[in-house]
Amino acid sequence: MKSDVVVVGGGISGLSLAYYCSQAGFKTTLLEKNDSPGGSFNSPRYTGNDTQFWLEMGAHTCYNSYQNLLDIVDACHLTDSIIPREKVPFTLLVDKQLKSVFSALNIFEALKSIPNIFSLKKEGLSVREYYSKIVGVNNYNNTLSHFFNAVPSQPTGDFPADMMFKSRPKRKEVLKNYTFKDGLQSIARAIARSKGINVFTSQEVTGIEVLDGRYAITTQAGVTHSAATLALATPSTISSRLLQTIEADIAGHLGTLKAASVDSVGVVVRKNDISLKPVAAIISPNDIFFSAVSRDTVPDDNYRGFAFHFKPGETDETKMQRITNVLGIAEDKIVHKYEVTNTVPSLRVGHRQWLERMDGMLGGKNLLLTGNYFGGMAIEDCVSRSLSESERLKKLK
Ligand SMILES: Cc1cc2nc3c(=O)[nH]c(=O)nc-3n(C[C@H](O)[C@H](O)[C@H](O)COP(=O)(O)OP(=O)(O)OC[C@H]3O[C@@H](n4cnc5c(N)ncnc54)[C@H](O)[C@@H]3O)c2cc1C
Repeated sequence: MKSDVVVVGGGISGLSLAYYCSQAGFKTTLLEKNDSPGGSFNSPRYTGNDTQFWLEMGAHTCYNSYQNLLDIVDACHLTDSIIPREKVPFTLLVDKQLKSVFSALNIFEALKSIPNIFSLKKEGLSVREYYSKIVGVNNYNNTLSHFFNAVPSQPTGDFPADMMFKSRPKRKEVLKNYTFKDGLQSIARAIARSKGINVFTSQEVTGIEVLDGRYAITTQAGVTHSAATLALATPSTISSRLLQTIEADIAGHLGTLKAASVDSVGVVVRKNDISLKPVAAIISPNDIFFSAVSRDTVPDDNYRGFAFHFKPGETDETKMQRITNVLGIAEDKIVHKYEVTNTVPSLRVGHRQWLERMDGMLGGKNLLLTGNYFGGMAIEDCVSRSLSESERLKKLK
């Protein structure tokens, strides 16, 4: 099969890149390993007797500062599906009690430290270095660090502070934070349906060669796609492996990045079977899970759902015991269970220099790289990277 561009990986990075390429007039094919597009946009649906219920197994919140994403949402006619998130608290589980973040903070320490926000720059500092000075060392260690670790489901003390939370221009007419009527995966489905992109699911790419100046991309099923331009939108570890034989230097540079696995278990329970108060998420310091993200932000009449994001290496039995214990329910009250593993980048201070070198190596090549390991792992960072790679492609032609 012949295309101008073949994109490997159908998460939001690959989908947005495929969208931009097709809009620019390139015949675009996207190959995704899983049986549906979305990657970390994963909102599986449970159909019970009385309702249809979805649960976010990965990303759950978008913001009005996600301008590039919003442009795509508008173009895919999905704007009317934007819905608000109910204001329920992000909680900390301490001594079997749920506390709000604010009640866990030492206000005196925070007030003493907060003026540093006006003088301290994030650039070159780690999350630990920056936020310890903004809220105080004890507040950071005892409270805030656990919330930060819950964002990419891994320890974040050594993350670059300027890549964790970014201030971006906002679209004031859009809700500050929001989701979609059928969950965030509806964005992935809408982009995959958009005109000009051929999406093939259940197609794991296993080999890439260069033949007669074109890329030959082979899937596990034995199908070969031919493209003038190759775009990789898989986690850095996979992109590194796929490029080893054709771009050893780039593969080597990608191979220097670290990534972490997140083992997520989602459970659906009947509303009447659980007495836990509504929460946006439960964060339990020093536990075997980083966070349990709840569907209470979009309440349902019959069901509640929780996605527990575990540290890797726990057994199924241990995970289930912890879930039932935290939720205060017996295992037979779980009406549906989902399991998924996501890969998240472990960025470090100095990542900007890594990025500059990578972009230098890609210069002039018809090889595009996107993903959540460039400017940051927020959805908008992924879409922004895809936009800039599509702009580079247009200049190459
Ligand atoms: C639990 C969790 C919660 C998050 N919450 C938020 C949030 O609320 N807001 C926010 O802004 N960000 C959030 N993020 C971050 C954001 O969702 C991710 O960074 C982003 O979705 C990653 O998109 P991606 O396309 O780069 O990677 P992925 O979504 O990982 O997509 C990569 C795709 O490549 C496919 N693939 C891999 N190997 C192959 C192969 N060989 N051949 C073909 N396909 C392949 C995979 O199946 C996958 O679909 C969250 C992330 C996680 C994990």
